[in-house]
Amino acid sequence: MKLYGTANLQFIFAFLLMLFSASIIVSTSIRMGCGNSCLVTVYFFDVGQGDAIFVDTNGLDMLIDGGPRKAGAALMGYLEALNVSRISFVVATHPHEDHIGGLVAVLNSSINVDAVLYSGESATTQVYSNFISLAQGKVTLAERGQEYVLSDDVNFTVLNPVQPLEFSDSNSNSIVLRLQAGNVAFLFAGDATFDAEESMLNAGLNVASQVLKVAHHGSRYATSATFLNDVNPEYAVISAGVDNTYGHPHVETVQRLLEKGVTVYGTYLSGTIIMSTDGQTVQVHGNPKPVSEFPQGVVLCLILVLVTFFVFWIKNLRRSG
Ligand SMILES: [Zn+2]
Repeated sequence: MKLYGTANLQFIFAFLLMLFSASIIVSTSIRMGCGNSCLVTVYFFDVGQGDAIFVDTNGLDMLIDGGPRKAGAALMGYLEALNVSRISFVVATHPHEDHIGGLVAVLNSSINVDAVLYSGESATTQVYSNFISLAQGKVTLAERGQEYVLSDDVNFTVLNPVQPLEFSDSNSNSIVLRLQAGNVAFLFAGDATFDAEESMLNAGLNVASQVLKVAHHGSRYATSATFLNDVNPEYAVISAGVDNTYGHPHVETVQRLLEKGVTVYGTYLSGTIIMSTDGQTVQVHGNPKPVSEFPQGVVLCLILVLVTFFVFWIKNLRRSG
C-alpha cells in the first residue's frame, strides 16, 4: 500500500512538471518576434494615466499621443532607447493633458517631427498653448477619410473626427486611426465615446481590426458591444495608470471585452506592451499578463485553497498507505 501512495505522488509531480514545461513553451513562443519580417512594431508605452503609442515601421514612424506632462521624461527615455531621431507623424488625438502633455517634451527635443496631425479642437489650458505653439507650422487637420502611407505595406486611415467637428465634447472629437499592415489592422481609438463609435459605424467605415487600443483608458462610456462586434479584435490594450482616480478601466468595459473572447492587456498591469506583425499574424512580446475578470486577490485566495487541499490530500494518502 505504501507503493500506491508513492505512485500517486510521482503522478502528481509528473503532471506538475508537464504543466510547467507547457507554460515555458507557450511563453517562449509568445516571446518570439517576427525579426526582419516585421512590417510594424507598436509600443504601447507605460506613461501612467494617459496614452503614448509609438508605431515603428520600415519606412515612416508615428507617435500617437505623449501621455501626461509628468511622463515627458520617461517618454523621451523610451524614444531614445529605440534610437528615434525622426518622427514623421505626431498625432495629438485631442487637447487633454494626459495625451498632449508629454508631446511638449518631444516637440521641444532634438527629434525631428515632420507633421503634427491634430483634431483641431482648441483649449484654454497652459499645456495646450505650449503644445500648439511648438507644433506651429506643422499642423495638419485630421479629417475622416484621409489616408497616409508609412511604408510599402503599412498605411493608416483617419476614421474620426469629421470636419467641421461634429461634437461639443473633446473626447468624442478624438482622432481615431485604423492602421493596416498587410492583412493585420490596429485600431487606435483615442478617448472616443459611444457617440464617436456610433458616428463611425453610421458612416459605414471599416473598423475590423486584430488589435484594439481601447478607447478612453477603458471607460464605461466607450467600447459598446455593437462597436466591439464590428471591430472583432483578437487583442485589446488598455492604457491606464495604476490606481488612477477615474477607476479606469471600468469593470463593465473589461467584461464586454472578455465576453467577446478578446485577450486584454493593460499598461497598469504589465507596463509597456509591445506587439508586432509580419502582416499575417500578431506577435505579443515580453509575455505580458492578460487582464482577468477576477481581481488578483480572488485568484490568489483560490490558489491558496487549492494548494491547502492538495497538501491535505497527499498527507491523507500517506496516512492511508
Ligand atoms: Zn485620456
